[in-house]
Amino acid sequence: MMNSLDGQPPVIPPVCYWVEEEGGTRWLVPGCMSRMHDPDIERCDCPVLAEELSAVRRARDTARRDYRGLRWWTDSILAAVHARPDGIAIMKSAAERAVQDAPHSPR
Ligand SMILES: [Zn+2]
Repeated sequence: MMNSLDGQPPVIPPVCYWVEEEGGTRWLVPGCMSRMHDPDIERCDCPVLAEELSAVRRARDTARRDYRGLRWWTDSILAAVHARPDGIAIMKSAAERAVQDAPHSPR
């Protein structure tokens, strides 16, 4: 399952394809087990474009739901912190930690 929240790009499943060299030699790069066993089969097990599109749309919808859930959770935490008398100091401390702990910050 693709997950857009782990910082990794979505995994694109391999599909069978042919490579043709300048001399006209063609060779198969198999993307599924069916073609690995029989390169000459008419229809392999690789997803067709419509199936790939459906899978990508499902992954997008999942990422959107995940984002909305995290957004709701973050907004709830911010509201709870700001409701405290020391909310501003807590947010200032959190901002400083975020800058300090950011992956791109020099250490
Ligand atoms: Zn295939």
